[in-house]
Amino acid sequence: MSSKFSQYYQQAYACEQKNFNQCFYCGCEATERDHCPPLHMLQSIIDLGEDADFISIAACYECYALLHNERLLTIDERFTKLKKKLATKYAKPLRVYNMWHESELNDMSDEFAHSIKAGMALGEEAAQRIAFTGFSYATEEAKVTVREKTAEFDVEGTVFTDFKQALNYCIDTLKVEKSDFYKILVEDYQGDFNKALSQYRHRHDKVTAAKDGNCLIKEFSKQHKQNSDFVTRTVKHFINKDPSLTTQAALEQLYNNYIKK
Ligand SMILES: [Zn+2]
Repeated sequence: MSSKFSQYYQQAYACEQKNFNQCFYCGCEATERDHCPPLHMLQSIIDLGEDADFISIAACYECYALLHNERLLTIDERFTKLKKKLATKYAKPLRVYNMWHESELNDMSDEFAHSIKAGMALGEEAAQRIAFTGFSYATEEAKVTVREKTAEFDVEGTVFTDFKQALNYCIDTLKVEKSDFYKILVEDYQGDFNKALSQYRHRHDKVTAAKDGNCLIKEFSKQHKQNSDFVTRTVKHFINKDPSLTTQAALEQLYNNYIKK
């Protein structure tokens, strides 16, 4: 890198041979160096006297390009941002990889099975790149930064190291509906299983409560020979006035006000 600013950066090198030539962010083959912070932002960072890592590290072209315009001043911030960008860019194939199983493809037309398989392969590669934890590196000053974080996914106390396994546990053991749950997990809670489970159950309980409410209204209407539209409307009216009312309590109020003689 020939730039008048290059002198500001320490070059970082992988400590272990197996990581030589790997992209620090995703594990692919490295062809570039990511400057933290980016070279074209250095002047403003120096002018503002901001603190930064001032390190350059091996990156593949895609990670280099994704981070090129990110004004993030530490390697850790860049690492976290890159994973989010990969997850967004490959959201569709990741979904295919996480939701489909090879065995489901047998009954499909060849054309459809072929396109799902291609999506699964791309999604699997993206999942591996997102799961890559980086590597320990040393700078020219011999300052070593150790990284030995393995991704962990806590599902109510059961810990998984693989996202898809954690997801399958939720589907097979905790019996969540997979496409509803996946949407909440990935889009609303960025892979936090416990928050997603809590939200999923909250919504699911609401649906169940609404279904129970409809049953109660039907039974009540039958028992007291009332038009069920009238009962539904009146219950809604009572609950709007007092949101703490349950359907049962609203029905009792209706009974006392209009039916009881
Ligand atoms: Zn990369």
